[in-house]
Amino acid sequence: MAVQDNSAQTEQGLQWQEFAACRGPLGSVFFPPPITERKREKLARERKAKQICQACPVMNECRDYSIAIREPHGVWGGLSEKERRVLL
Ligand code: SF4
Repeated sequence: MAVQDNSAQTEQGLQWQEFAACRGPLGSVFFPPPITERKREKLARERKAKQICQACPVMNECRDYSIAIREPHGVWGGLSEKERRVLL
């Protein structure tokens, strides 16, 4: 998830990010690694990320935001980039 200074987040209505369950070390499963990832590994990583999203108190806000800005990468709001593209 993009990190901005607090004043910018407040102005853009991004305060929900403060409550994100993916903050900290768990965040690495939400985006592909810098090395090549096999399909099986990608699906397993995305499954872990989506499990975290299901327990996240701001899942709806996150999903709406990622769709609104057409975020092209990673799992946001319980949806992979492929699943979000279908909604656009
Ligand atoms: S819904 Fe998922 S990606 Fe969005 S803030 Fe919560 S844990 Fe992070």
